[in-house]
Amino acid sequence: METVKRPRRVAVIGVGILGASVGWNLSRRGVQVVFIDAGRPGEGVTDWSFSWVNASNKTALKSYFDLNVAGMAAHRELARAIGPDSWWYPSGHLRWADDRAAETKLLETASLLTSWDYRVEVLTGAEVRRLEPALQLPDRVPVAFCADEAWVHGRHLVERLVGQAVAAGAEHRFGTAVRGIGTDADRRIRTVALSDGSVLDVDAVVNAAGPSASEVARFVARDLPMRREPGVVTRIGCTRVPVRRAMHAPHIEIRPHGDAEVVLHSREVDGLIDALIDTEADPPELAQRLHEAACHVVPELRDARIAQTRVVQRPIPADGFPSVGEVPSVPGYYEAVSHSGITLGPVIGRLLASEILSGTRDAMLADFRPERFPSGNGWPSPPR
Ligand SMILES: Cc1cc2nc3c(=O)[nH]c(=O)nc-3n(C[C@H](O)[C@H](O)[C@H](O)COP(=O)(O)OP(=O)(O)OC[C@H]3O[C@@H](n4cnc5c(N)ncnc54)[C@H](O)[C@@H]3O)c2cc1C
Repeated sequence: METVKRPRRVAVIGVGILGASVGWNLSRRGVQVVFIDAGRPGEGVTDWSFSWVNASNKTALKSYFDLNVAGMAAHRELARAIGPDSWWYPSGHLRWADDRAAETKLLETASLLTSWDYRVEVLTGAEVRRLEPALQLPDRVPVAFCADEAWVHGRHLVERLVGQAVAAGAEHRFGTAVRGIGTDADRRIRTVALSDGSVLDVDAVVNAAGPSASEVARFVARDLPMRREPGVVTRIGCTRVPVRRAMHAPHIEIRPHGDAEVVLHSREVDGLIDALIDTEADPPELAQRLHEAACHVVPELRDARIAQTRVVQRPIPADGFPSVGEVPSVPGYYEAVSHSGITLGPVIGRLLASEILSGTRDAMLADFRPERFPSGNGWPSPPR
């Protein structure tokens, strides 16, 4: 039987929630980790996410739903391991609709989730107002309440994970981009070249570069096809945060963000990005649309002011599912690239660290392997 060589030094390229989770898991199991980020840890998409930890929105593929359920459990374990304060908000999630078709779909999804042993309760609008007194919604509208769901302050979580790993001996190079990855004659990973001119000796790399993951993959001549799917997120400042949990109301998603801000997002407004702005530009018109939609649901937000808005790219492999694990043709090169990365970061971090250390591929990731995108051959149909 072939023995797996435990890597001595692993470069984690990109320190958002995915890189931080993999690096933290490796570090606590005795691996020398080097965190590398072109910017600051946690300040990429992870800081500009709706950040809802859930599996109720992941019902299209059962194995993906199961992975997200494991992601929710991994967050609860992580909160026990590192402490929940300042990043973990397990207050549940509300969803309701304002048209018949969407309401029918919501009730069908609630039945499906119940049949998969997922905790979902259908409340009335009047009952929900006892939980969230600031909401304006019809008394009899059905509202799906998923009590086990949560939201996460992604940047705070990343800072906590990196801080613990560094205290345990991990190295870091922040404000420094990876410019190249060196391999030997057998295509084994040997070095990482940085924008400051330094070259690090490593025997494995984890590509956790989020929306830039396909650029990093090209350093090992790998074609990782990704979708272009931008999203716009606005933070509005208010003297009193009027909502207690994450919610999908008609036309707007709302959640608290600390003691003085609310985060707003809407798939409908995302759909306007290309038409309204160059994604590099300040998007005030999109922010105003989000604010306007939020005021229909939470009237007291009318006095709030728009604080910050960003347009960011979702890190989505071309078939919509994560790419996690070693690329067999490049030993020592691993990917951790995923949408829903807030939900999935801790579970992907744990599973990938185990794979790097033991060589054992977890069955839970079987549908999400990098080799379903063979280099140079385009990409095949979505996983089973
Ligand atoms: C609008 C929107 C809403 C979302 N809502 C949710 C949600 O409700 N729930 C959910 O689970 N997920 C959600 N997501 C997805 C989730 O936010 C992402 O999947 C997750 O944050 C990705 O984390 P990451 O660590 O892969 O990427 P990032 O946080 O972007 O981290 C990647 C890091 O790589 C660095 N980097 C890039 N290139 C290089 C290089 N060459 N060298 C060094 N460093 C490099 C960057 O500086 C960055 O810090 C949402 C995303 C968007 C855009």
